[in-house]
Amino acid sequence: LREAKYTINSYCASPYFHRGVLMAEKRFVYMDHAATTFTKPEVFEAMLPFLKEHFGNPSSLYSIGREGKEAVEAAREQLAKALGANSEEIYFTSGGTESDNWAIKGTAFARRKRGKHIITTPIEHHAVLYPCEYLETQGFDVTYLPVDRYGLVDPAEVEAAIREDTILISVMYANNEIGTIEPISEIGEIAQEHEIPFHTDAVQAIGKIPLDMKKKERNVDMLSLSAHKFYGPKGIGALFLREGTEIDNYMHGGGQERKKRAGTENVAGIVGLGKAIELAAANLEEHDRKMRKMRDRLLAGLLEIPHCRLNGHPEKRLPDNLNLSFEYIEGESLLLMLDEMGVCCSTGSACSSGSLEPSHVLRAIGLPPEIAQGTLRLTLGDENTEEDIDYVLEVMPEIVGKLRAISPFYKPENICEK
Ligand code: PLP
Repeated sequence: LREAKYTINSYCASPYFHRGVLMAEKRFVYMDHAATTFTKPEVFEAMLPFLKEHFGNPSSLYSIGREGKEAVEAAREQLAKALGANSEEIYFTSGGTESDNWAIKGTAFARRKRGKHIITTPIEHHAVLYPCEYLETQGFDVTYLPVDRYGLVDPAEVEAAIREDTILISVMYANNEIGTIEPISEIGEIAQEHEIPFHTDAVQAIGKIPLDMKKKERNVDMLSLSAHKFYGPKGIGALFLREGTEIDNYMHGGGQERKKRAGTENVAGIVGLGKAIELAAANLEEHDRKMRKMRDRLLAGLLEIPHCRLNGHPEKRLPDNLNLSFEYIEGESLLLMLDEMGVCCSTGSACSSGSLEPSHVLRAIGLPPEIAQGTLRLTLGDENTEEDIDYVLEVMPEIVGKLRAISPFYKPENICEK
C-alpha cells in the first residue's frame, strides 16, 4: 500500500487545489477497513499452495484431496481456538452475508412450529434485515427494537419484547457504520433464561474484540464472521453454531461441513481465514492499543473543525471506528474531495451507492437528515500510521472549508460557533 503513494505532481494537477492552498504532499491513505481490509502477505502465502499444486477436492480420497481436507480441518482448529469454541461448532460459509442468512432463515424454518416471532434491531446490516423482511413475507412477525441516540440496544427492551411465540433473537455485536458495541452478554443471558436461540452478527467485532464462546459469549448460540474484515480473503466466512442449536440447512447438496453446509470447500479461502484469525488473535491487544491511540488523536483533531460531531457511543465503540457528521456539507462531496487527496473512506448515505438518503442506521439513531447527509466513516487498520493521521488532519479542514464556502446553507454570520 505504501507504494501506492501519489506524487506531488498528481496533487498539483488536482482541480481542487490548483491555487496551492493545500501544501501537503499527496499520499495514499486507506481508512475504510470496515468495508474491507487488504489480504496480509502471510495469509496470501499460506493460501497460494492451495491455488496451485494442492488443488485436490477435500472429498477425494487420494493424497492431494486428503491434503486439502487436512488444511480445512487445521483452519477450523485455528478459528475455534481464537473463539474459545470447539472445532465441531465451526461451519465455513461464503462470508458474513451467508452466515447471517443461514442463522436467521435456518432458525426460523427449523422452529416455525413453535412460533413465528423474531426480535432484532433496526441497525443490523442488510444481511440480517433483508432475511427478516423476507421472513415477514412468509408469515413471520419481526420486532425491531428501538435503539438510543448512540445506537445502543437496552437489554430490558429485549426482555420486554419477548413473547410466547418468540423463536429467535438477533442483535449485532458491533455496528458497521457507527461502531457502537452492543451489550451482547446481557442480551444473551436474557435469551438463555427464556430458552430462545440468540444470534449475533460479529462481522465487525472479530479481530478487534476478544471473544470467548465458553465464557464471555457463553450465551451466544450462533455467531457470524467474515475473513475479509480481518485481513483475510473475500468470499469466505463462518458460522459458529453451538452444539445442539436447532437449525435447518441453508445450502443443500453434497455432504460437506458435516452435512450442514453443502458445496465443495473454498480450500484456499478457508486456509486464508485460518491464518488471518491466528494472526489477529495473537495481535489483539497491540492492535487495540494502536487503533485507539490513532483514533483518539484523529477524533480530537477533527472535532476542532466547527460544527463537526461524533456519531455512535463515545466509549462503547470499536477501537478503529470514527463516524462524524460535518454540518452544512454533503458526505459525497467530502468523500470525492478526500479521494482527490488520496484518502479512501465511506459516507453515511445508503450503502448501495447512488442514493443520498441517510443510511438506515443514521435514521434509527435519530440524526436529522440535514446533518446525516454530511456524514463520513473513517475506519483505521493495521497499515495506518501516525503520518496518515497528520495528513488527514491537514487536508480535512481545508476541504470542509471549501465545501462550506460553496454551500447555500452555510452562513457563518447566522451560526453560533461552538
Ligand atoms: N454484517 C456486517 C456487520 C458487515 O459489516 C458486513 C459487511 O460489511 C456483512 C455482515 C456482510 O459480510 P460479507 O461481506 O462477508 O458478506
